[in-house]
Amino acid sequence: MKQSLLFTAILACSLFSIKAQTAKPEDTEYYTPVPKIVTPGNSAGQPPSDALVLFDGTNLDQWVATKDSTSPKKWTVANGMMTVNKANGDLQTKRSFTDFQLHIEYRIPENITGSGQARGNSGIFLAALPWGPGGYELQVLDNYNNSTYVNGQAGSMYKQTPPLVNACRKPGEWQTYDVVWTAPRFNDDGSVKSPARVTVLHNGVLVQNNTELKGDTPYIGQPGYRKHGAEPIKLQAHGDKSEPISYRNIWVRELNQ
Ligand code: MG
Repeated sequence: MKQSLLFTAILACSLFSIKAQTAKPEDTEYYTPVPKIVTPGNSAGQPPSDALVLFDGTNLDQWVATKDSTSPKKWTVANGMMTVNKANGDLQTKRSFTDFQLHIEYRIPENITGSGQARGNSGIFLAALPWGPGGYELQVLDNYNNSTYVNGQAGSMYKQTPPLVNACRKPGEWQTYDVVWTAPRFNDDGSVKSPARVTVLHNGVLVQNNTELKGDTPYIGQPGYRKHGAEPIKLQAHGDKSEPISYRNIWVRELNQ
């Protein structure tokens, strides 16, 4: 009995080694589908060839006022940037998106005043929703030398997840967000199939690492999910009294094609 067990073990070992010897590098290599060719931008932050440019510095053709999509009252475009017009409210994209990569640049005015949440407050809603707080807000705020609740500072998913680090540049300097957004998915009955996830680089520094969202981002109360589909991206005209901020060089690459 012992001998037959030993024999079986030896046989198994030799079969295994024959198999290992016959394995080829090609066994774990494949050739299709071939990734499509994308030409990167000429410098960091410039749109790659397959990006949809949402703002190139010249016009707001891709944007509508959230409160009235037919209104010509939007924000000011001058000197290659768009500047928030607080009286005209939030702006959102004409198009809707599900999963995407987003690049956006913003500048807090050099002469910014105010403190806490009332200092260069704006925000990027990664899916604009027509109820509650209006979606999922990646906070824009001057926190170069200004403190507030940490889950409401720049780079936070508002009132949920603080940034991993504070990577703010000084007021007056252009700053970047590079975002990878995975939209939540819902079952037919409205329950959450998979929550939203977000990765954010702030000025090239990782501040959200595949963060799972608990829902939308209300100012008061708990986050929650409510079924939705593809939605616009929205920029916030915050009601604080500080000087309005500016945006430029906004582009998106859809990932759900
Ligand atoms: Mg905000």
